[in-house]
Amino acid sequence: MTAPAPVTGTSTAVAWRRDLHTHPEVGFLEFRTASRVAGTLADLGWDVVTGRAAMVAAQRLGVPAQPELDEAFARAVGAGADDRFVGGMEGGHTAVVATLHGPRPGRAIGLRADMDALPILETAGPFHRPAREGFASVWPGAMHACGHDGHVGMAIELAQRLTADPPAGSVTIFFQPAEEGGRGARAMVPTGLADRIDLFVALHLGLSLPTGTFTPAIDGLLANSKLRAVFHGRSAHASLAPQDGRNALLGAASATLALAGLTRVAGHDTRVSVGRISGGTSSNIVPDFAEVLLETRADDGAVNADLETRARSMLHGAAQMHGLGVEVELIGTVTTARADAAAHDAVAAAGRAAGLRAVVPAADSGVASDDATALMRRVQERGGTATYAGLGSDLAGPHHTATFDLDEAALPLGVELMERLIRG
Ligand SMILES: [Zn+2]
Ligand SMILES: [Zn+2]
Repeated sequence: MTAPAPVTGTSTAVAWRRDLHTHPEVGFLEFRTASRVAGTLADLGWDVVTGRAAMVAAQRLGVPAQPELDEAFARAVGAGADDRFVGGMEGGHTAVVATLHGPRPGRAIGLRADMDALPILETAGPFHRPAREGFASVWPGAMHACGHDGHVGMAIELAQRLTADPPAGSVTIFFQPAEEGGRGARAMVPTGLADRIDLFVALHLGLSLPTGTFTPAIDGLLANSKLRAVFHGRSAHASLAPQDGRNALLGAASATLALAGLTRVAGHDTRVSVGRISGGTSSNIVPDFAEVLLETRADDGAVNADLETRARSMLHGAAQMHGLGVEVELIGTVTTARADAAAHDAVAAAGRAAGLRAVVPAADSGVASDDATALMRRVQERGGTATYAGLGSDLAGPHHTATFDLDEAALPLGVELMERLIRG
């Protein structure tokens, strides 16, 4: 058992960010990322919980199929995964929870760092800095296009600083898998690892905030539900016996059109989106299989639940219309959460002390979702306070696009903010 060579560079946060940007892993496949995080924190002397102890396996949503899990695991093992930890993560158990216990009693502070990348083919043009400077994704089809590489980088540098001079109380960092799609945090909640946190902060880079600014609380996060519907029909020769077929693709198409016309809810911000339909094999075969991926969002959990129910009715109705079977699976879900005043104030003070300018979030940051809300709610239910804060970073391209690139000058500012929060 050997530890991989440490990441080196000008600053730990930037070096880690670039290493992870080069090796992006999507939700529940973060074997290389998570094992290296666990190994680094363990070497610093933190208490490290990983694998099935850090998340309840059955509570995960949208876990990739076994061949995909196996392939990503093998790839990670061949690309510098920490073999002291990666074995326990097999099958997509990629959460890491690391705690530093200080020399004196004090507050228990919890921070969230999400680790997953997105299924995006990164742009290769010379105008894109990761490509120009040689740290673009080497795994085509996956890309850090939301800044989570920066989140992990900041957390590791923070951990190093805290280790050198441990604060009172305790600091726990929740390295979360599968934030995208709302699939990972909910599985960490029932472990109880967040139950004794007094102050919980999830800090997200970008979100339309410029470098040098921050916002102590973003309250406009939407609840969402992500559904996968599979229509089952019967194949037949499209010309010789179309009447014998049951066309699954027609079910998917009818459902897609119906969903686009879903009735909206007065007084609430809502979204409905079908992001993908697929099915069939050839022009002369009635397709017996089709898949639809869709999501609903709303600024209120109950409104989102209602939208989800209506969406499910449309999927079943479309199936009935075309004589099909349909299975509808919830593959991700995110709830809303609101910041506590005390947590807001603590982050506000820390940000100002770090030299950052507090700003009101831009209007368009209110349309996102983040499943850190699951951890926030748990902390709040147990008497702690929580907030979802934004850290400014000028962006070369928008979140979730092939040209996304964050401003690395934001990373030391984020580390400073979090250190001041903890020592404050
Ligand atoms: Zn994202
Ligand atoms: Zn994100």
